[in-house]
Amino acid sequence: MGGLTAPPFVCILWESITPHRPMQVALTMVSSNAKTGPIPTTTSERSSCWEGCAFYDKGCYAKSGPQALHWRKVTSGERGVIWAEFIALIRNIQRGQIWRHNVSGDLPHILGDINPGMVSQLVNANRGRRGYTYTHHPLNDHNIEVIKDANSKGFTINASCESVDDADRVMTEYNIPAVAVVNSEKTDRFYTTSNGRKVITCPATIHENVTCATCGLCQVADRQFVIAFPAHGTAKKTVNAIVS
Ligand code: SF4
Repeated sequence: MGGLTAPPFVCILWESITPHRPMQVALTMVSSNAKTGPIPTTTSERSSCWEGCAFYDKGCYAKSGPQALHWRKVTSGERGVIWAEFIALIRNIQRGQIWRHNVSGDLPHILGDINPGMVSQLVNANRGRRGYTYTHHPLNDHNIEVIKDANSKGFTINASCESVDDADRVMTEYNIPAVAVVNSEKTDRFYTTSNGRKVITCPATIHENVTCATCGLCQVADRQFVIAFPAHGTAKKTVNAIVS
């Protein structure tokens, strides 16, 4: 969709009002993360998160564990590269390879509005590859358009929700894939939303021998089911309170 490529002056504005420096992103070509398995993964600096995210101040799983240290170093600029270099690195990922953008962090934005020019660069660099990610940015008209455009071109952006019913509503209203964080006790393999839409619990959270490398469900943009992630980690009580 040509309309999603911001005119040059908009790009300049978007880049120039980044608070301190261009956004930093790190690519790990072979992840050692037990949940993703050995696929390429990325981490975007903390400023990529929208302050309106339900987990911004509390409950964010990425703020604890080994990934937290990496995220802090990307955020401080000690690790990672600027966006333009990051885009070049994505082109080094083998064609056909599944990869996960943002184990921590979100898509580049200003006050929750996703940067269409930067995401368009990401979508183009992903061509022939099977990238996917999640976003907690608000589902306003602007962001929905960016998300739908990316999904139609092979880079899957899932809307992150705080309940399976909300994820169901998002899928029905906007025709985009959605996932939901659910209570840590909710680990049934399959169930349905209040409206009867199928929910699949992320297999990597309930089976030791499944990873994103072998599953890939989050990359399927036209799937008709919600994927649920039971709260985990040190903040799971806080997350349970938010999603309950
Ligand atoms: S559902 Fe599959 S692809 Fe998505 S996070 Fe879980 S294991 Fe990875």
